[in-house]
Amino acid sequence: MPTSLDLLQSVFGYPSFRGQQQAVVEHLSEGGDALVLMPTGGGKSLCYQIPALLRQGTGIVVSPLIALMQDQVDALREAGVAAAYLNSSLGAEEQREVERQLLAGELNLIYVAPERLLTSRFLDQLERTEVALFAIDEAHCVSQWGHDFRPEYRELAILHQRFPQVPRIALTATADPRTREEIVERLSLRDARQFVSSFDRPNIGYRVGLRHNAKRQLGEFLQGHQGESGIVYCLSRRKVDDTAAWLAEAGIEALPYHAGLDAATRAKNQKRFLREDGVVMVATVAFGMGIDKPDVRFVAHLDLPRSIEGYYQETGRAGRDGLPAEAWMIYGLSDVVTMSQMIAQSESADERKRVERQKLESLLAYAEATDCRRQLLLGAFGETYPGPCGHCDNCVAPPKTWDATVPAQKALSAVYRTGQRFGSGHVIDVLRGEETERVLSLHHHQLSTFGIGAEMDEKQWRSVFRQLLAAGLLEADAEGYGTLRLTSASRAVLSGGKSVKLREDARPERASRRRRDSKLVTGGSLGIEAYEQTMWDELRALRTQLAKQQGVPPYVVFHDATLLAMLRAMPANEDELATISGVGEAKLKRYGSDFLAVINAAE
Ligand code: ADP
Ligand code: ZN
Repeated sequence: MPTSLDLLQSVFGYPSFRGQQQAVVEHLSEGGDALVLMPTGGGKSLCYQIPALLRQGTGIVVSPLIALMQDQVDALREAGVAAAYLNSSLGAEEQREVERQLLAGELNLIYVAPERLLTSRFLDQLERTEVALFAIDEAHCVSQWGHDFRPEYRELAILHQRFPQVPRIALTATADPRTREEIVERLSLRDARQFVSSFDRPNIGYRVGLRHNAKRQLGEFLQGHQGESGIVYCLSRRKVDDTAAWLAEAGIEALPYHAGLDAATRAKNQKRFLREDGVVMVATVAFGMGIDKPDVRFVAHLDLPRSIEGYYQETGRAGRDGLPAEAWMIYGLSDVVTMSQMIAQSESADERKRVERQKLESLLAYAEATDCRRQLLLGAFGETYPGPCGHCDNCVAPPKTWDATVPAQKALSAVYRTGQRFGSGHVIDVLRGEETERVLSLHHHQLSTFGIGAEMDEKQWRSVFRQLLAAGLLEADAEGYGTLRLTSASRAVLSGGKSVKLREDARPERASRRRRDSKLVTGGSLGIEAYEQTMWDELRALRTQLAKQQGVPPYVVFHDATLLAMLRAMPANEDELATISGVGEAKLKRYGSDFLAVINAAE
C-alpha cells in the first residue's frame, strides 16, 4: 500500500503537503467525515483526491460547475488518475460509457453535478458501486445567505442517509461563521471534524487607490503585467464591454464576460481565458466561481465590490499557484452612491438590505484604511494577523494623515444646516460659497455655513466627504438618493469631543512615478530577468504546443511554478527533472524528453 505522501509525490509530483492537507487526507482515508475551510488556492482538491486513491472504490465529487469539470478531469488524467465526469454536456453514448466504467469499478474519481447525483437512477447505480468517499465541493452553495445558493445542495443530506458508511468531506473557501454553521446543519455534518486554515494569501499583494481616470490608471497598472493572465472586474455590463473594447484596441488580449452575453460567447471567452497564456478577462461578478486557473497574476477592481467577503473571494482568484500576484482596486465616492442605490432598489427584504449596507460600510472602511490591509481583511474573518504584512500598499508606503477635525466639523454642520436632504455635490457648493442656481433658489447662501469652507477646493472636500462616509461619521440614505445624513457618531465630532484624522489622497502623478520605478514593471509579477526571457518564452511555447495537442489548458501540462523551477534549476536529465515540484511520474514520462530538449539546447 502506498502512503499518502507516496501518492503526493508519484502522482502529483509535489514534494510535501501544505498546511492541513495531510491531516485531512489521513482523517478521510480512515473513514472520518470532514469539513474543510481553506482559502482559494489553499489546495483543497488534494484533500479528497488522494484519499479517493488510497481507499477502495470510486470517489464521488459533487461540484456545481459543469463547465469546469472537464478541465479538472483532464488535469487528473494527465497525472495518470482514472477520472471521468457526468453532466448534461455529454452525449448519450458517452454517458453510458462513463456509467459502465463506474459500475465496473474502473474509476478512481467521478465528478457529477448535484442535480445528476440526486436522480434515483444515479443513486441506484451508486448502490451497486463501491464508493470510496463523497466530496462536496463549493459547500457554501447550501447557504441561502451567500450569493451562490443552489437549492439542490440542500438535498445532499440524503447521501448520509443512504450511504451512512461512506465518509464525506465538504469543502469551501467561504469563511464566515454563519455560512459554516449552515453547512454543518444542512449537510448533517455535526460529527465531522472541522479543519480551518488561515485565510491569509501571503503571495497576494493588496493595493487600493482613488479613481480619477480609470482607463489611464488601468493602463498603467497593466504595464506591470504584460503578457500575464488577469481578471478586471467592473460593476456593470456596459462598463465591461467598454473596458474590454478599449483594452483590445490598446493591443491587450482582453475579452468580455457578463450574463448579458449569449452562452456561446461566454463559453468561448472562458475557454480562451483558460487555454491561452496572457488573456485578460474583463467581467462582472458573474465570472469566476470555480475558475481554478492557477496562474491568474492579478485581479483588478474598477468599482467597489459589494462586501469584504466578495472582494476576498474575487481577489483570491489570483495566484492560486502560490507565485506573486496582485489585487488592485480603484474606487470613488460615486461608487458609494451607486452601491447604496443598488441596495435600495433591490427586491430584498429590509433586514437583508440592512445587512448589505453594513457590508458595504465595512468594505469602504477597508478601502480607506491607513493600516495594514491584510490585517483588516483577515480580521473580517475573525482571524488575528500579527501585521504589518509588508506586502500591501499601506505597509509599503504608509499614507500621510492630517488632522481634519475642523473641516469635518464644517462638513457635518453644512449637512445638518441644509436639512440632511442633499448629496455631497450641493453641500460642497454651500461650503465653498458657490452661488449656484440651486443654492440661490433654496436660499442656502443665507445659511451660516455658506462659504465657511472656501479655503479648500472641491477635490479636497470630496476626499473629506468620502472618508467621513467610510468612517461612519456620515451615512448615505437607505433609499439610495445619494443624500447624506448625520449618524450617531457625528455628534461627538460636532461638539469637539472627538478629533478626526484623514488620509491625504496621493497625487496621481506621484503614484504613477513610483509605479514606473518599481521592479515589477520590468520583470512582470514573476520577476523573470532579461537574460532568462528567451528560455522562459521557449518553455512556455513548448507547453502551449503540447497542451494544444492534448486539447487541454497549458497549466494542465505544467504550472508556471513548475516551469519557473525548471528555468532556475536547468535540470540536465530525467532524474534531475523528476525532483522539480509538479513533475509526477506520468508527466515525466509523457513530457520529460521534450522539456529536457529545450533546456539542453540552451547555451
Ligand atoms: P483550491 O481548490 O483550494 O482553491 P486547488 O486544490 O486548486 O486549490 O490547489 C491550488 C493549487 O495549488 C493547484 O494548482 C495545486 O496543484 C497546487 N497544490 C496543491 N497542493 C499542493 C502541494 N502540497 N504542493 C504544491 N502545490 C500544491
Ligand atoms: Zn500590510
